[in-house]
Amino acid sequence: MIIAVDGPTASGKGTLAKALAAHFGLPFLDTGLLYRAVGRQVQLNQGKPDDPADALAGCSFADSLLNDTVLRSEEVGGLASRVSIHPEVRAALNKRQVEFANQPGGALLDGRDIGTVIAPHADVKLFVTAPAEVRARRRYDEMRRHGMSVDYPAILADIRARDERDMGRADAPLKAAEDALLLDTGDLTIGDAVQAAIALVESRLRTR
Ligand code: C5P
Repeated sequence: MIIAVDGPTASGKGTLAKALAAHFGLPFLDTGLLYRAVGRQVQLNQGKPDDPADALAGCSFADSLLNDTVLRSEEVGGLASRVSIHPEVRAALNKRQVEFANQPGGALLDGRDIGTVIAPHADVKLFVTAPAEVRARRRYDEMRRHGMSVDYPAILADIRARDERDMGRADAPLKAAEDALLLDTGDLTIGDAVQAAIALVESRLRTR
């Protein structure tokens, strides 16, 4: 069984994807981490994320980079969203994701284009959303909890800029597949969102 989980930044899709993978016993790939590794490698190379050749060079990152906690930073998230615009970068990362999706026994992948490009044949596609203001508030609270000094309007502006880049790019833009199940987590606690996601997947599996 293949489960595709897509959605914008800070929608809760990462948390839901991990919970679903554990619930259904599927290997899990956070594909955003691959784009983050490219962004970070470009930075280490002192390249320009908006330059296609520099961005492509960043795809030759060492796998050990995927374990570096710096990939989780806001700064690297922004770099990832810039390098992911280039078709050359997407093509370089696609094979690894397609192979992961099609491994025997199935898989769960989370990203932006899993249901539309990487695994359009997925058994279940979930598209997770929440209003930008709610996503910015979650990010704000999370950063505060980590003792960072943060500015809500700046976070909201950053989330909107990332949405625009992810949804507006020509190659594999962020969008729900036609047959995706939509889950808006805006008014839900994490626990309720996980229960709702499991119920949606199970209902889709029953009607297949
Ligand atoms: O999900 P995460 O925030 O880690 O992703 C970082 C960036 O990587 C996203 O803003 C998006 O631009 C890009 N990305 C993508 N396609 C994916 C996963 C992530 O373009 N499948």
